[in-house]
Amino acid sequence: MPATNLLDSVKIVLVGTSHPGNIGGVARAMKNMGLLQLCLVAPRAQFPHPEAVLRSSGATDLLEHAQVFETLEEALSDCTLVAGTSARSRNLPWPLINPRQLAERLQGELARPEHRIALVFGREDRGLSNEELHLCHLHVHIPCNPDFSSLNIAAAVQVLCYELRMAVVGQSTEDRLPFGTEWDVPFADNQALEMFFDHLEKTLIEIDFHNPNNPRQLMSRLRRLYLRARPDTMEINMLRGILTHTQKAARNTNEITDDQTGQK
Ligand code: SAH
Repeated sequence: MPATNLLDSVKIVLVGTSHPGNIGGVARAMKNMGLLQLCLVAPRAQFPHPEAVLRSSGATDLLEHAQVFETLEEALSDCTLVAGTSARSRNLPWPLINPRQLAERLQGELARPEHRIALVFGREDRGLSNEELHLCHLHVHIPCNPDFSSLNIAAAVQVLCYELRMAVVGQSTEDRLPFGTEWDVPFADNQALEMFFDHLEKTLIEIDFHNPNNPRQLMSRLRRLYLRARPDTMEINMLRGILTHTQKAARNTNEITDDQTGQK
């Protein structure tokens, strides 16, 4: 398999992009580095757009095949590793790496078709929201001048795609090291993770551990914990089973308490 095919499992996801020209610039940057899958989440101008075609300088095939989604969750549902990019630090620290470290980390995964990787980029004016960043396993920051740290989105895509390309250049599927890939069960995808987080939140409310009227950072911190551990599908099934039993036990206890109250 030629080295660049190893990048087929990576999709670039652009959230709420305002300038169609930037979408074209991203398509060009991707195609230069051999990446093909472009996803747009709620682009703010109409798409397709002639300005995007112009700025793509011939990467029109990527624009034609671009998938458009209404929400980030939909775009990520089949992804087993999600990396969000950010030009600045956020209030709840998340595992943070630079593009080269990302490429090193992905080296093993790129060879495996069951891995589907998403790199998520934010809006030109305000980046990604905290909720969007909390859908990601890890965050990537391009180290640059701290007084002028925000790159044009196509330039940011270029840097990440370049590092990925450098990590796979000259390597075939056969001769790459199985770094971090010898796992017995496939990793859970984003859809399974989101269903688990939903179940977890409902259960924590039922057992009175979580007050949705005063949520603080509980769910964000739990997300960070579980995403850091990167559960596989079997682990997610076990966790879901534990939650179901917790709910049953809590409901039984409530019934018993209600009965006792009734007897009084
Ligand atoms: N003012 C915005 C900057 C958005 S730049 C903010 O404060 O977040 C648009 C997008 O380009 C970002 O959401 C991110 O995806 C990417 N980007 C720009 N500079 C970056 C950097 N230094 N590191 C990582 N991603 C960057």
